[in-house]
Amino acid sequence: MRVDDEYKGVLNTMTIMDLPTTASVKSSGEQALDAARAQLAGAARFLGLDDGLHRMLATPRRSLTVAVPVRREDGRMEVVQGYRVQHNVSRGPAKGGIRFHPATDLAEVTALAMWMTWKCALVGIPYGGAKGGVAVDPGSLTTRELERVTRRYVNEILPLIGPEKDIPAPDVGTDEQTMAWIMDTYSVNAGYSVPGVVTGKPMTLGGSLGRAGATSRGVQLATQMALGSDPAGKTVAVQGFGKVGALAAQYLADAGMTVVAVSDASGGVHRAAGLDVTALRAWARENGSVPGFPGGDPLTNDELLALDVDVLIPAALEGVLHAGNTPGVKARLIVEGANGPTTPEADLILADKGTTVVPDILANAGGVIVSYLEWVQNMQAYSWSAAEVEVRLADLMETAYGAVRDLSAERDISLRQAAHAIGVGRVAEAHGARGLYP
Ligand code: GLU
Repeated sequence: MRVDDEYKGVLNTMTIMDLPTTASVKSSGEQALDAARAQLAGAARFLGLDDGLHRMLATPRRSLTVAVPVRREDGRMEVVQGYRVQHNVSRGPAKGGIRFHPATDLAEVTALAMWMTWKCALVGIPYGGAKGGVAVDPGSLTTRELERVTRRYVNEILPLIGPEKDIPAPDVGTDEQTMAWIMDTYSVNAGYSVPGVVTGKPMTLGGSLGRAGATSRGVQLATQMALGSDPAGKTVAVQGFGKVGALAAQYLADAGMTVVAVSDASGGVHRAAGLDVTALRAWARENGSVPGFPGGDPLTNDELLALDVDVLIPAALEGVLHAGNTPGVKARLIVEGANGPTTPEADLILADKGTTVVPDILANAGGVIVSYLEWVQNMQAYSWSAAEVEVRLADLMETAYGAVRDLSAERDISLRQAAHAIGVGRVAEAHGARGLYP
């Protein structure tokens, strides 16, 4: 049996073995961790990693769970759970966002940290992988409550983070303001300003030009590289209209593509001739969500995922494409703006259909790439022009995309399998070069 056939066979077995028997018995975070571990198992087999190293990479290096007491405006005290997981630091400081979401748990944060490790290695930036999370709905808190949650959470994870140790960034439910509070809390404790402790900061605190739209720009670049031809007129549907999805829709529309549908957690809108994305973004900003936009007809999230479009961009949360709905997917190309939107079972269904999937660790790497550029600028106390940032982002995205595409073609494996083989392979190589202490 050729190694790649064997690899595909193992991946199939691993994914099915690792899937929960009943979806309801596992949290979505546990399912994400199962998926991440199944992908790692496939890459480990492909690379011929020894079992010990595989086990080490399947296990996070450090995990911290903290209780975050928060004083509500009415004087009551509530306690929410917070997490910071450093999956791997063999190639450099741990790097990864902080998520505020009511459903986040240790398993989800661990999966997301593992994906950060492979993502940073794949795009060739000198970081390990980390993620943080607080199980809270930011929409249910006042700004002052949100500030108190953020500062107390950061205080609890203070021993782990630092510009040379672990550098947080925005993720679902957090933004520039959250990063400013983190930078301030860390700096007050240090006694001096430490801009390099966090990325995705406001410009006034050492943020980088181009960081706010970086993930979306990367999604646009990945989409265009995958289409390989003039994208003008190609139709696209975007699931998730937050930090990543809204600007990805804008950039793709600006590049001449026809954005026919978008949705957020409350529902979506559809217009076959193309939505006015600029007007839709203004509507969503003013009204808090997409539904009701007068320039299109209502549609549900499920209907959006099944639209007959050239490109589908899941840009919200994990596990939205699963065994239940993926048979109905008609898009020819899926570009993953979110982390982990496709379950391993859905991946197999898409492979059978011949659908191309540009995987998360490649497609959404633009965010952490510009985070890296921001951190480099902070460490040098220097700032670059928007054009310099754009060029470096495009260069790193194109190099990574080319490597994944070439390996996928050479070994007849999917883009996801190739991306994981490269990311995991680089981390394994770093472990090999460093050796095991003691
Ligand atoms: N949260 C983003 C991601 O999942 C960005 C992480 C970062 O910039 O460190 O890639």
